[in-house]
Amino acid sequence: MSSPDLSGYRVIAVHAHPDDEAIWTGGALANLARRGAHVTVVTCTLGEEGEVIGEPFQGLVADEADQLGGFRIRELQDSLAALNVNGAFLGGAGAFRDSGMMGSPAHENPRAFVNSGEHAVALLVEIFQELRPHLVITYGPDGGYGHPDHIRAHHITHAAAQQVAIPRILWAVNHLGETVAGVGNIETIPQGWSRPDEDYLRNAGVVDSDLAIDLAEPDFQAKARAMRAHATQIWFADGQSSVTNPDVALGSGPDPVFSLSNLLAQPLLRREHYQLGAGQPLSGSLLSDIDRDFVGEKQ
Ligand SMILES: [Zn+2]
Repeated sequence: MSSPDLSGYRVIAVHAHPDDEAIWTGGALANLARRGAHVTVVTCTLGEEGEVIGEPFQGLVADEADQLGGFRIRELQDSLAALNVNGAFLGGAGAFRDSGMMGSPAHENPRAFVNSGEHAVALLVEIFQELRPHLVITYGPDGGYGHPDHIRAHHITHAAAQQVAIPRILWAVNHLGETVAGVGNIETIPQGWSRPDEDYLRNAGVVDSDLAIDLAEPDFQAKARAMRAHATQIWFADGQSSVTNPDVALGSGPDPVFSLSNLLAQPLLRREHYQLGAGQPLSGSLLSDIDRDFVGEKQ
């Protein structure tokens, strides 16, 4: 398969929290960067309201030392390095705070991203004006799984795109059928973990997507490394421990098995799915569409 040089092609991914860039879009971003595109991840919060996997850094959570946000900056930097992409925080590191889950008291913080109003849109407009992306990736109107900060990321992206023309906006989605099958294929669930039920998966999945990207091995490996960098948030059941998480989990199946802090086992699948949010229609393959549009434009 040809891999045209994408130097000069600019991509921005707008994400709510550190780790979303890896989980939702790591494979595509790694691929685009590997082929020379200029890729920037804009992260809107520090994920301060998250839980912590692993004993050593439990005390960082919002209800205790409230230091998780700063810790997650380092995790994000390592993830971005694994993907070989650039990073920026919307408004600078710490400008907006994680709003927590739906109904969380964290919404009351004036700095909560859900309260970011037109200011956040203006900040993103500045970034769009500076970088002039050909492609912007974010989530759909439900934020992918209903998290208020993800929904907000969707809204500011589309509001900013009203002010700066963006040729194409894609929404990262989970493909429900493939995820259900992948969960079903997990052979061994680590001790203390459980298998997510279909209601849980349905909340974060779509029945159909506009395009699927099959991750080439280097992109799949980069995505896995990026996810691993977020050790307070993601636990791979591969028998390895880390400074952040000295505990070891062992799972097995055709795909690598990981969990978030809910300890629900998930497969790391070799495909990512996207929907067309706005702009130029797709013929079914993001990578070949980009090649066609962009390489055609350069010629
Ligand atoms: Zn998130």
